[in-house]
Amino acid sequence: MKKLALHWQILIGMIAGILFGWFISKFDFGPGFIKDWIKPIGTIFINLLKLIAIPLIIASLIKGISDLKDISKFSLIGGRTIVIYILTTVIAISIGLLIVNIVQPGNSISAETLEQLTSAYQADMGAKVSKAQAQKNSGPLQFIVDMVPSNIFGAASNNGNMLQVIFFVVFFGISLLLIKPEQAAPVKSFFDSLNEVIMKMVDLIMLMAPYAVFALLAALVVETSNPDLLVALAKYAMTVVLGLALMVGVYLLTVSTYVKMSPGKFLQGISPAQLLAFSTSSSAATLPVTMERVEEHLGVEKEVVSFVCPVGATINMDGTSLYQAVAAVFICQALDFELTFADQLTIILTAVLASIGSAAVPGAGMIMLVIVLEAIGLPADKLAIGLALIFAVDRPLDMCRTVINVTGDATVALLVGKSVGKIGTPNVKNWDDNLEEVI
Ligand code: ASP
Repeated sequence: MKKLALHWQILIGMIAGILFGWFISKFDFGPGFIKDWIKPIGTIFINLLKLIAIPLIIASLIKGISDLKDISKFSLIGGRTIVIYILTTVIAISIGLLIVNIVQPGNSISAETLEQLTSAYQADMGAKVSKAQAQKNSGPLQFIVDMVPSNIFGAASNNGNMLQVIFFVVFFGISLLLIKPEQAAPVKSFFDSLNEVIMKMVDLIMLMAPYAVFALLAALVVETSNPDLLVALAKYAMTVVLGLALMVGVYLLTVSTYVKMSPGKFLQGISPAQLLAFSTSSSAATLPVTMERVEEHLGVEKEVVSFVCPVGATINMDGTSLYQAVAAVFICQALDFELTFADQLTIILTAVLASIGSAAVPGAGMIMLVIVLEAIGLPADKLAIGLALIFAVDRPLDMCRTVINVTGDATVALLVGKSVGKIGTPNVKNWDDNLEEVI
C-alpha cells in the first residue's frame, strides 16, 4: 500500500492535536496531563531541529561553495539573493499597508474593547519594549560588526548567531576554493560526507514530525486563554491573514512565470516545511526541513540552497514585515494617532529593518514592532497600550507569518537558482520513499 505523503501525515497530526487539546481542556486534569506527558514530545522535536541547524549550515554551505569551482559564481548568488530578499520584503510591506488602509480594522474597535484588551496584557509589555530598545540603541554599523564573530566556537554555541556562523563558513569555503584542488580534496570530501550524514539525520528527525505537531498544537490549544479577546481582534487578524494570502499569490505567480514551475508542484514540495513553520512559529527551527525540501523536492542545487535558505531564515521575513506594517497602522487607527503619508513611508523603511533584525523564533516580530512604532513617533505610553492591544492574537498570527517567511525563502531560492542556472531535477531522498531503508 502506498504510504500517505508526509504533508498529509503532518496535517492529520495538527488537526488531531487541536481536537485533542480542545477535548482534554474540558477536564480538570487536562492542562496538567498535556504539560507533563504531551508537550515534551513537541519540545524534544524542536530541540532536535535546532540541534541539527548549525551542523547543517556548516556542512552544506562548505560543500555548496566548494562545488562552485570559482568565486565569481558565489558573489553572483550572494548579490542576487540580497537584492531579491529586500525586494520581496518591500512588496510584502506595501501589500500590508495597502490592505490595512483599505480595511481600516482599527477604526471599528470600541472604547470598551480597547480597555478590556489593554488591561489584560499591559503589565507584560514593559519587557518587550526594553528588549527592542536595547537593539535600537546600537550604532548604524553595529549589525555588520555583529556579523563578524571573534570566536567560532562561541558563535556556533548559540543558534541565535546564525549569521556569524554563515560568515565564518563562507570565509572558509572561499579560502578552500582558493587553494590547490589536490590540497582541498580531503577537506572537501570530509564535508561532502558530513553533509550526507546530516541530511540523513534530518530524515530521521522528520519521522517524528506528525506526532510532534500533534503535541505542539494540543499544548497550544490548552494554553490559549480568553478566546473572547480573539474575537474582538478578528478584523485585524483577518487583515493580516488576507495580506499574507496575497503574498502567497505573489510567490506562486513569480514561481510559475519566471521559474516555470506549477504552483501545485511548488506547494506540494514545500508544504511539510510550511506545516512545521505553522506548528513551531520558528523559521530557524524549520530551516533543516526547508533546506531539504527545496533541494530534494524542488530541485534547487545545493550551492544555492545552502546559502539562500540559512541567510533567508535570519534576514528575510516577508510575513513578519507585512504583519508589522498592518499592526503598526492598526494600533495607530485604534488609538486615534494620525498617520501622514510620510509616516507610511517610514513604516516601509523601518519594517524592512525590523524584519531583518527579528530573530527567527516565536514572537520576535512583535518585539521588533516597537522599532516601527517608535519611528513614527508613537508616544511611549501609547506604545505599551498598542502592544497590549494586539497581544491576544499574536501567537496565531505568528504561526501564519512564519509560514510566509519560510515560503518566501523557498521562493527566493528558486528564483536565484533559476537565474544562475542551478535548478535540476528533484532528487527525492527523503524518508517517504526510503523508509524501509531508514529502518
Ligand atoms: N516567528 C517568526 C519566525 O520565526 C518571527 C516573527 O515574526 O515573530 O519566522
